[in-house]
Amino acid sequence: MAQTLFTNVEIFDGTGKKPYPGEVLVQGNRIKRVAKGSDQIAREGARVIDGQGATVLPGLVEAHAHITYSDAPTLKSMGDIPPEEHTLLTARNAKLMLDMGFTSLFSAASAKPRLEIAVRNWINEGKLPGPRLKAASPEIVATGGLGDERQLHMYHTSIEIIADGPIEVRRVCREMIREGVDTIKVNISGDNFTATCRAEMLSYAEDEIAAAAEVAHSRGVNLACHARADAAVRMALKHGYNVIYHCDFATEETIDLLEAKKKEIFLAPAAGAIYATCYEAGDWGITPEVADKVMDLPRKMENTARVYREIRKRGIRALPGGDYGFAWTPMGTNARDLEHFVNLFGYEPQEAIMAATKWGGELMGMGDELGLVKAGYLADLIMVDGDPCQDITLFQDQQNILMVMKNGEFHRAPQPRRRAARRAKAAE
Ligand SMILES: [Zn+2]
Repeated sequence: MAQTLFTNVEIFDGTGKKPYPGEVLVQGNRIKRVAKGSDQIAREGARVIDGQGATVLPGLVEAHAHITYSDAPTLKSMGDIPPEEHTLLTARNAKLMLDMGFTSLFSAASAKPRLEIAVRNWINEGKLPGPRLKAASPEIVATGGLGDERQLHMYHTSIEIIADGPIEVRRVCREMIREGVDTIKVNISGDNFTATCRAEMLSYAEDEIAAAAEVAHSRGVNLACHARADAAVRMALKHGYNVIYHCDFATEETIDLLEAKKKEIFLAPAAGAIYATCYEAGDWGITPEVADKVMDLPRKMENTARVYREIRKRGIRALPGGDYGFAWTPMGTNARDLEHFVNLFGYEPQEAIMAATKWGGELMGMGDELGLVKAGYLADLIMVDGDPCQDITLFQDQQNILMVMKNGEFHRAPQPRRRAARRAKAAE
């Protein structure tokens, strides 16, 4: 079996330890051996890659991916894309994410039902380049909730499937599972983007929330939800949702409940889109004033920061991933969420990277073989130009991502270190 040996590298192994010098041997699609310090691995028979001191770490996992998003300013305009173009766009985004070092994506909803399913299948069959992908349903939502863009006199679809009442919810969930989703996504609360069903309101009643849970649990798929309101988080916990997104308005008592279930659940605040909508979307008409006075977003952002500082202290698994794919948060810039974890929520860089690697592997349901640089684990590895624990923004520039390996194969072959070369040149 083909062997690749990375020498002269710093290893960030995914456990949260700072990088240490060493060597990594890949055989086939798995990591065969990891050597630390001056310990050397035999070179015979291996293709040797001199890392020039760059950092090797597990491929990143995006925990709230929407690769069907088109970098448009509204969800409604994403509904206008015909399925044929939308499939191509999804395939392009999948490749872009892998280019940027994301070797796994956990979807938080597909804009149309079969886009992610089809792209996932083609990736798995080796017909398209892309990350490992957990494909989700569209946002399953009640009339008037986040994603319902219809008017009384005119039908319009955006990124949702409308289902009202437990009978419809059950049917839609069963249909999506029949089509092949890995994850059912339910919008339990509203959002500030939805004038008549805001973030702190519930869009679903308990019997509907329970109906989705009953189907997902009985068929063995992931169950994720959009839950900004405190009551939405409680409903999600009560009915066994395993991926609870946002949680912005969780109270102290609700955080206690989250902590009690921390071995079973995953959270992702999805800070990226909200942060950029607050402060960086002026060119699209959302000035900081609109974000504040009309959308009430900065108050939500402050609540998110309060909640996730506490979530961090309690050791609850919260992962980077932030609704990227809007005009002001274009696809491929997803690694900015790691910076948000550090700047907004008080994570150490090594904690944020651990969340995006080790915990990412666990979110993918592959914690015993994905997300660590460890013998026996799948060889999903990236190499970056510098120490991301010193500079968490490194991942945001594709030039710093020197190599991407997925399942033991190079998606992007190793490049020489540019920064180091620049520094050497400057010193001449
Ligand atoms: Zn989302």
